[in-house]
Amino acid sequence: MTRQEYALALLRSCYGYDSFRGQQWDIINHTLDGGDSIVLMPTGGGKSMCYQLPGLMSRDGFAIVISPLLALMNDQIDALQQDGIPALALNSEKSDTENRQTLDLVLQGKVKLLYISPEKLLSEIDRWSTSIIDRICLFAVDEAHCISQWGHDFRPEYTQLGTLKQRYPHIPVMALTATADRITRDDIAHQLHIPDARLFISSFDRPNISLSVVRGSSGKQKLRQIIQFINLHRDESGIIYCLSRKNTENMAANLRRAGISAAPFHAGMSVSEKQQVQRDFINDDLKVVCATIAFGMGIDKSNVRFVIHSNMPRNIESYYQEIGRAGRDGLPADALMFYSYGDVVTLQQFAKQSGQVQVNMDKLQRMQQFAESTVCRRRMLLSYFNERFDHDCHNCDVCDNPPQRFDGTKLAQMALSAIKRTDEQAGMYTVTDILRGWRKAEIIERGYDLLKTFGVGRGYSVAEWNAYLLQMLQMGLFDVAYDENNHLKITEYGNEVLYGRQTIELSRYERRDLSQKKPAAAPLAIPEPDAPAKQMDRALFDKLRDLRKALATASHIAPFMVFSDKSLTAMATEKPTTQAEFSIIHGVGDVKCQKYWRAFTATIREHLGMR
Ligand code: ADP
Ligand code: ZN
Repeated sequence: MTRQEYALALLRSCYGYDSFRGQQWDIINHTLDGGDSIVLMPTGGGKSMCYQLPGLMSRDGFAIVISPLLALMNDQIDALQQDGIPALALNSEKSDTENRQTLDLVLQGKVKLLYISPEKLLSEIDRWSTSIIDRICLFAVDEAHCISQWGHDFRPEYTQLGTLKQRYPHIPVMALTATADRITRDDIAHQLHIPDARLFISSFDRPNISLSVVRGSSGKQKLRQIIQFINLHRDESGIIYCLSRKNTENMAANLRRAGISAAPFHAGMSVSEKQQVQRDFINDDLKVVCATIAFGMGIDKSNVRFVIHSNMPRNIESYYQEIGRAGRDGLPADALMFYSYGDVVTLQQFAKQSGQVQVNMDKLQRMQQFAESTVCRRRMLLSYFNERFDHDCHNCDVCDNPPQRFDGTKLAQMALSAIKRTDEQAGMYTVTDILRGWRKAEIIERGYDLLKTFGVGRGYSVAEWNAYLLQMLQMGLFDVAYDENNHLKITEYGNEVLYGRQTIELSRYERRDLSQKKPAAAPLAIPEPDAPAKQMDRALFDKLRDLRKALATASHIAPFMVFSDKSLTAMATEKPTTQAEFSIIHGVGDVKCQKYWRAFTATIREHLGMR
């Protein structure tokens, strides 16, 4: 048997997968040859397989996996143990006796993957006998960007890891991260002392995540759209990111009133409250988490079917990281972002107060360009990450529904002239009120109702003006004076348009009815390139999901650790009724087959009316 055949056999028997994804095999092979590597892959790309297999393949050795978060470590180990893979952790939460027992098992060659935090490893390794050291086949450094001060998650304890290569030059090092920028990458190679490491860069595209942006909605309208959208994802898990703690609480309360299982999550909650929310979410007992950005790190739940940004995120990096928490199982998932003028104002204020004003303003600008994009959104995202992507994705709102362009010069002139007549002493909302001719007290007080432009834009709704003014702002017809009560100031370009020396195009605002959008996750069919796609039986899927939940609850594990949504989809499509048929389903390895074939095939047989 060749090395690769052996690897594939393990992939099938341990995990129930039929082939390696992307560069996985090259990375594994390079490691088996003793090479160092830096692996860049997006979240959900399949990084862990790259270090798990070298551990499994080593005859009596084991791989060391260095990971910063205890919770993530424990989840991974639980998941591996479900597949019958001998993985254990050494950590400071456990007693000395427990940790010693773990080391004994390592010595006996009974552990293939040893998870450990950086500080624990560095304090322990000196005490290990050579017979343990000799068995180490790999140092895998997960979340390796934590080593870099340039990264977004610097951890001082990571910086000591460089000594490993110096002390054990013959043991290969694999550094893995989902953070792609060059500075971080160079820093990883430098600090880990692996200058010759081979670089494996995967595409950062997550083709199964559909991208949409809704602009201009606010308040009640936005809430209604969110509820419509969630109702399309009945029984499915999702995350809603909100800007503030208060917003998470309000959102959760509003959703609950609409009969949706939802809870807030933010840094102001107690540790035990937060843990409860995480647990309920992972166990599918809670459908929707309304969170500040604090939520998501350290959660490995594979069946998150949607991520909603109720406000525009501050930059594209955050946006991409957050939507990456959806659809890790590779099945269709939805990313929906709302953005309004209010978001722009708030985020600009954040940026202005930050230490690096220019950088943060530029990043915000790019984020806004993404929101206003008139070309395929995935193209724009990937080009932001310097990746070549030269076709339309057909899985974003721009591809599905290309914006209609029209000559917006007249509209812009109305707006600009209203701004001019206030002597540039009014903000976006007041300008909208003037254009729409709203006689509210403040307007009359200031005499704006006497302006020539008062009411000229009556034919357009507030949402339309909001959307068009955003586009004009984005085009640079006017600026917002953040140091002057957010009053609008016309630029030179704006003046050229106002006086008819330039024309502009706008893209038509369309009221989005999200109840009409087909959810990405239905009908959940897995496209097979050559075979005609079989239809998934949705009713059977629901029964299998209930069974999964019951089995998970009985063994105190998360449902996705029993089987992923992808495996359930395969079962509801292939409908295996025997052990042999069950054993070849995606994600069914030997151990899970033994454990679960009876229960699942019984449900399928019953569904099919077989005895
Ligand atoms: P990452 O650590 O890069 O975020 P994971 O290692 O958690 O991603 O992998 C994401 C999902 O893909 C997991 O559910 C994993 O089991 C699955 N996976 C990894 N490799 C393969 C493969 N070769 N075939 C099928 N599924 C895979
Ligand atoms: Zn597209």
